Amino acid sequence: MDLKFTAEEEAFRSEVLAFLNERLPQRIAGKVSNGRHLTRDDMAQWHAILHEKGWLANHWPREYGGPGWTAVQKFIFENECAIAGAPRIVPFGVNMLGPVLIKYGSEAQKRYWLPRILDGSDWWCQGYSEPGAGSDLASLRTTAVRDGDHYVVNGQKTWTTLGHYANMIFCLVRTATDVRKQEGISFLLIDMTTPGIEVRPIVTLDGEHEVNEVFFTDVRVPVANLVGEENRGWTYAKYLLTYERTNIAGVGFSVAALARLKRAAQKITRNGKPLAEDPQFAARIAKVEIDLDNMKTTNLRVIAAVAGGGVPGAESSMLKIRGTEIRQEISSLLRRAMGPYAVPFVEEALEEGYAGEAIGPDEAASAAAQYFNNRKLSIFGGSNEIQKNIISRMILGL
Ligand SMILES: Cc1cc2nc3c(=O)[nH]c(=O)nc-3n(C[C@H](O)[C@H](O)[C@H](O)COP(=O)(O)OP(=O)(O)OC[C@H]3O[C@@H](n4cnc5c(N)ncnc54)[C@H](O)[C@@H]3O)c2cc1C
Repeated sequence: MDLKFTAEEEAFRSEVLAFLNERLPQRIAGKVSNGRHLTRDDMAQWHAILHEKGWLANHWPREYGGPGWTAVQKFIFENECAIAGAPRIVPFGVNMLGPVLIKYGSEAQKRYWLPRILDGSDWWCQGYSEPGAGSDLASLRTTAVRDGDHYVVNGQKTWTTLGHYANMIFCLVRTATDVRKQEGISFLLIDMTTPGIEVRPIVTLDGEHEVNEVFFTDVRVPVANLVGEENRGWTYAKYLLTYERTNIAGVGFSVAALARLKRAAQKITRNGKPLAEDPQFAARIAKVEIDLDNMKTTNLRVIAAVAGGGVPGAESSMLKIRGTEIRQEISSLLRRAMGPYAVPFVEEALEEGYAGEAIGPDEAASAAAQYFNNRKLSIFGGSNEIQKNIISRMILGL
């Protein structure tokens, strides 16, 4: 197995870098690199730029608008984007629903919904989790009862990321109760403007409104919005989760965060010297850098295996755990580097054009907020404890 990129792959990387240089708006990259808030328009603008280039849905088949890239090309693209400060592609339509519709949707659904995902006509959110149904997702209780050519939906979803921007939500709903709980779940596409839907914000510990609760009261959904077969939704849900975990290691995000940490550690002084020269702090930076390098190698090994026709198994769980631990460690080190500057984080300083007094170095404004925000990484997309259960089942047979 060769972990070096080929000449063609290096040429592809140069093409990606040239594109980022030309098309990634510096205003947006600056916000991402400094941990500032991104608006809905910022995210939509990057989505539109990628769509125009034909690089948005990079893992869709060509016939639906994908670029036909290999696993290595996707890895190169996603990591170079992260290092350059591009925003994360909002994943719910492109990365999650799209592949499900391509595999399980009807022809009419593919024809109608896929182009709307690409051109940004619809902003999708994910209605899986409920109070009492997170890790144990199959315990979900939101019901959909058939009434003529509609389903009537009642219940509640929670942790719905960017649901306040969305006009559409894909939901797992219970359509049968007299069977094993996994066998009574269906996959429904719901228009968020339908009467009976209420979105309430959840403000997280970093002061952000990123997630929501969504309530459904007698919401009428056309039967045509059922994906696949009734009561087969668990199969589609699991298929979607494999896509939720693609590029889960987030190597590029960690590379960018580590560069920022190193910059910050040069600006802060301790005992008259840059913090970067403090032996204990330098050792912690070195350790996380070595961990990151190791994880990158593991990630490339998995990609090489996939390119050779293999299927990632427990490795994607390992990458999820290590990737999120490394990102959390880097944000923890940045917060430590900022010391007292990080504690009273000023929320307004996270907005574009903040003209107030700078408190500490540039990196200070978002250090605490990002530290808090990154706690989520080990929870969503299947918590790290659940990933460890998967590894123990698949490798140790426990
Ligand atoms: C910021 C954020 C955004 C999210 N966005 C979305 C979204 O857009 N759409 C959506 O549907 N969901 C979303 N989620 C929900 C996310 O998928 C769940 O939070 C996650 O699956 C965990 O479920 P839970 O919160 O109910 O915790 P629980 O399942 O109650 O777990 C609580 C703790 O117990 C541990 N635990 C649970 N079961 C086991 C077990 N069997 N063995 C060992 N440990 C266990 C967990 O690891 C965790 O530490 C989001 C969550 C967060 C934090």
